Amino acid sequence: MTEITPDTLAKTLKDSFGFSTFRPLQQEIVEDILAGRDVLALLPTGGGKSLCYQLPALLMPGLTLVISPLIALMKDQVDGLLENGIKAAYLNSSLTDEESKDTWRELYRGTIKLLYLSPERLLVEGMLDILEQLNLQFVAVDEAHCISSWGHDFRPEYRALKAVRARMPKVPILALTASATERVRGDIVDMLELRDPQLFVASFNRPNLSYRIVPRISPLKQILEVISSFKEESGIIYCLSRARTESVAQELVEKGISAEAYHAGLSSEERSRRQERFVKDETQVMVATVAFGMGIDKPDVRFVIHHDLPKNIESYYQETGRAGRDSLPSECVMLYSSSDAAKLRMFIEQLTDETERDVSSRQLSKLLQFAEGSECRRVALLGYFGETYKDDSGDPTSTCGACDNCLTPREEFDGTEVSQKIVSCVLRAQKHSGFAFGLNHIVDILMGSSVEKIKKLGHDQLSTYGAGKGHSRAEWLYYGRELVSKGLLRINYERFNVLEATQAGLDALKNRSLVMLKTPLVSSALSGDKRKEQRKRLGAVDYDEALFSRLRAWRVGVAKTKGLPAYMIFSDATLQAIAAKKPRRFDDLKGVSGIGEKKLALYGDEILEILAES
Ligand code: ADP
Ligand code: ZN
Repeated sequence: MTEITPDTLAKTLKDSFGFSTFRPLQQEIVEDILAGRDVLALLPTGGGKSLCYQLPALLMPGLTLVISPLIALMKDQVDGLLENGIKAAYLNSSLTDEESKDTWRELYRGTIKLLYLSPERLLVEGMLDILEQLNLQFVAVDEAHCISSWGHDFRPEYRALKAVRARMPKVPILALTASATERVRGDIVDMLELRDPQLFVASFNRPNLSYRIVPRISPLKQILEVISSFKEESGIIYCLSRARTESVAQELVEKGISAEAYHAGLSSEERSRRQERFVKDETQVMVATVAFGMGIDKPDVRFVIHHDLPKNIESYYQETGRAGRDSLPSECVMLYSSSDAAKLRMFIEQLTDETERDVSSRQLSKLLQFAEGSECRRVALLGYFGETYKDDSGDPTSTCGACDNCLTPREEFDGTEVSQKIVSCVLRAQKHSGFAFGLNHIVDILMGSSVEKIKKLGHDQLSTYGAGKGHSRAEWLYYGRELVSKGLLRINYERFNVLEATQAGLDALKNRSLVMLKTPLVSSALSGDKRKEQRKRLGAVDYDEALFSRLRAWRVGVAKTKGLPAYMIFSDATLQAIAAKKPRRFDDLKGVSGIGEKKLALYGDEILEILAES
């Protein structure tokens, strides 16, 4: 092999992929692979894992094999590579005989640089023999955690990958994943029989994502607030149940938003159709259960909203991680309700397996601590994964300056009276009826509501009836939950989630102790200066927005003609960079990140024309 210098790498990165700089650890990984080493790389979603094998594949003389679990993603990857002028192909059940034959012909001719296969395909009789003849240089195993039964997505077929090492011991292996605990990591090394592998672990911080957790008070309005700050851009809304995905999608459609539901109850054809419409920007918002996400590589998802509480912090991280892979500022908003927590708690308590129950219950507590906490979200999230957040200067005590807790720390106020009213209302209702009630009913009493249930129970006779008119219903609900997290009230999950006063609550009531409460934060979107400050923190650049829109419109046309998703033509990041720099000449255009040789030749003139018109 000819010697490969950092200059060669930089040139190939620019010419073939259009990128001017490597993302963290990409260069190191590529260099080790080219040096013939085995590598295990843990990079977060959006970290740029694909490039770690695509680039070395171009610099090696023979064929690179990529093992990937998802057929849909193979096609996307190959389309993207072809669009960059890189010869790549896949073999799977979706191809016609004719297409397969063509691919085989090309493979034998040695023109193809990257071949994508599923693990099942790899083991088809004779496949390994053929690969051996085809001058296989290197194997990349994507989603390598699938090999471990300890991971969250175990695929037994992955176990068979052992055969590659056995058959072609000299071929280096690169294992890639976005999620791997110690145990899974060990499994990957053992099962793939990696030899003295170089381990790379990137920071799991996603600097371009902002995190925001707000009480779920009027979900539709809150969701619309987020969507409206993103114009036509893509987003995902995660819901817990299939029914909810349908109803939320329906509500959005009624408000004129292009939205569709996605869940495991739909036929697989229907699911792929909806997924494709989303990827091709024909549907703006996907309202989905967690069944959605694994199979999409769409890099320009601008927001992820959790309508319901995610399962645990890890799921939250994975699901929010689907936003902003292209590294442009993107938002993650969770609508939080303690009634979700109560439901989950009940569900967990019904689990029969004791270990599972313990684990889930601990995970839920951590999630609630995170959601209700006032610490910087980024610091807390990374801390959960054992990482210390540091800003650019490397300060380990820094905070992100872009999350809800950093930007709008909730003020504390003397909530003694508020808390007295709630606790005494809880006690009085219980005393009057002989049993306790849930938060909603308590708030009904405080608000002086005239619902049937109140009259029937005679709760309109209580002295606290109508005592809470100074605050809104939403605020009372919020304060009630605050008192639960402060330990003055507790939710009795065994008894229909009713509220009960704790000893601390009784003491506070008796002694009129000072209770500090936080003002609720209800807006799901930032406005004005705060939003500007946030976007700056997330790395936003200034660009000509009108020009960006024109470039996007042009891109839609090109993508349609080619039948490709728009992001494959150029990413939003690239269009923004063009709209910021406004290059006038071919050579200047070449300097823009995302424009390589092939795309420059294909689209350079058209872009310069659009620029000349403005
Ligand atoms: P992952 O698989 O780790 O989530 P991808 O390989 O899908 O990440 O890459 C995410 C996005 O980042 C893609 O749109 C890709 O084109 C882009 N990307 C990768 N490497 C770079 C780089 N060095 N500079 C700019 N963009 C990059
Ligand atoms: Zn923060």
